[in-house]
Amino acid sequence: MYLKNIEVYGFKSFAQKINFEFHNGITGIVGPNGSGKSNVGDAVRWVLGEQSAKQLRGGNMQDVIFSGTENRKPLSFASVSITLDNSDHKLPVDYNEVTVTRRLYRSGESEYLINGSGCRLKDIQEMFYDTGIGKEGYSIIGQGQIDKILSGKPEERRELFDEAAGIVKFKRRKATTLKK
Ligand code: ATP
Ligand code: MG
Repeated sequence: MYLKNIEVYGFKSFAQKINFEFHNGITGIVGPNGSGKSNVGDAVRWVLGEQSAKQLRGGNMQDVIFSGTENRKPLSFASVSITLDNSDHKLPVDYNEVTVTRRLYRSGESEYLINGSGCRLKDIQEMFYDTGIGKEGYSIIGQGQIDKILSGKPEERRELFDEAAGIVKFKRRKATTLKK
């Protein structure tokens, strides 16, 4: 499984629809300060369900919607889609390619989609359990995160190992069953 494409429209500094294509290897994103490199990482975190505006370096969630520049009007919604190659079926779905989309309108309305069909955030989270992908997964290592892992509580560090060992879904299922 690997990340094939990120499509952004109206997300932070991306006023036009932009596709970032990736291949099964290493890709570097370079550019001057303030050109939007970190916004690409924020887009991935956001589509995976990040709920904290602070984590996305904003005051409230609507701050992710393109707010306009001198020559461009603000946009009314933000949309991010990531497409993963799933030909090895590491994600527990039948599709060989999985596209996850999140949209947010200024009105506060929001939606999540898997391959174009509306779904709950929970469906996305469950699909990514034990893959290392997800807003808490180790597939995105943000600035300062290594330090957080090293100096964190043992319980928090344990969660990282659980994810890597592939037992998160069992733990969650057990917790849900015990609650019933
Ligand atoms: P650095 O090299 O300094 O880390 P960077 O390439 O990572 O820079 P980002 O932090 O990704 O840059 O991008 C910051 C830019 O995104 C700023 O110019 C900021 O004005 C712009 N930006 C953030 N949110 C929005 C928004 N909602 N609408 C328009 N522009 C935005
Ligand atoms: Mg940056």
